Amino acid sequence: MSDAATPSPYAAERRFAIEAVVSAAQLTKAVRDDFDPEAEAVSKADSSPVTVADLGAQALVSMALAEVLPDDPMMGEEDFGQLAESPELAESVLQRVRAQRPEVTLDQVREALDRCDDPAGPGRRWWTLDPVDGTKGFLRNEQYAIALALVEDGEVVVAAMGCPNLPYCGEPGDPNVGGPIGVLFIAERGAGTRMMPLFEADADRAGEPVHAAAPASTAEARYAESVEAAHSNQSEAARIGAALGITAEPVRLDSQTKYAMVARGDASIYLRVPRGDYRENIWDHAAGMLVVSEAGGRVSDVEGKPFDITTGQRMTGNRGAVVTAASIHDEVVAVVRSVLEG
Ligand code: AMP
Ligand code: MG
Repeated sequence: MSDAATPSPYAAERRFAIEAVVSAAQLTKAVRDDFDPEAEAVSKADSSPVTVADLGAQALVSMALAEVLPDDPMMGEEDFGQLAESPELAESVLQRVRAQRPEVTLDQVREALDRCDDPAGPGRRWWTLDPVDGTKGFLRNEQYAIALALVEDGEVVVAAMGCPNLPYCGEPGDPNVGGPIGVLFIAERGAGTRMMPLFEADADRAGEPVHAAAPASTAEARYAESVEAAHSNQSEAARIGAALGITAEPVRLDSQTKYAMVARGDASIYLRVPRGDYRENIWDHAAGMLVVSEAGGRVSDVEGKPFDITTGQRMTGNRGAVVTAASIHDEVVAVVRSVLEG
């Protein structure tokens, strides 16, 4: 069977997304391979961490977008602010970007980062990027993702997600076992989700189809959740798991790699149980949503409402996330609601 990519209405966007995510992943991997937390990571104003990898990866994707699809705006997580305050960090980002684009200047990095604050809105076409989703996982050298998605008329139509630390042939239940390391997931609306080894990814290839797998009963399911208890209420999730009859331990991993686990059947549920009134950032979900739904999964918030990604940076109309193989979604949402409301 030929592995050539088939022509599609989004062929140019698919190619851009694959090449941009691979280039970003090469940068993040290079940073990670000889990471110096003292010099290459700082805290943002909200005290969340940001690293040379986040900033460098976003600069590379933004520069590629400006060249390949110059009319397309992008909303990315990072901005130049951190670099303005730290000349050492700025220099370090510049050197990392220059490894791929030797002629680049710091002004061009600034321009590339500052171009990424375009507000999302209904009825428009835009990209959204989380250059290093799961920065805490990156810092621990565990799972993180480069998550890029194209939105048209409020729907994700193309998504590329690079998981630089995820084994291509994995061990369900342990995202850190297997090989080769690094997976790229690519999804197009109506055309399914496929994966290829990230560091050998080739936009001319179709990739290997992946499918969300439903267990025979929800009691046999395995669920994935955040490593960070502050990001998802793990004790409520445990109550939901118990109410579903699940006995397997949850798989804890950072980033949208949890969506990838559901998309390829390594887990059949991803629970994100909100704390307080936290509203999710679009870039933490947009790519994962299409990766899962095109693989035969379903995505909603904890009330079962579909995500509304037309509300700007935050999904103000939704809370948390329930991501499952499609056939068990109604049942899982019903249990989530009864546990959280009960
Ligand atoms: P995860 O690795 O799944 O825990 O997700 C990482 C993402 O969680 C980061 O990119 C943040 O945008 C997001 N985040 C930060 N604080 C919270 C919070 N209180 N609740 C939910 N998500 C959060
Ligand atoms: Mg993120």
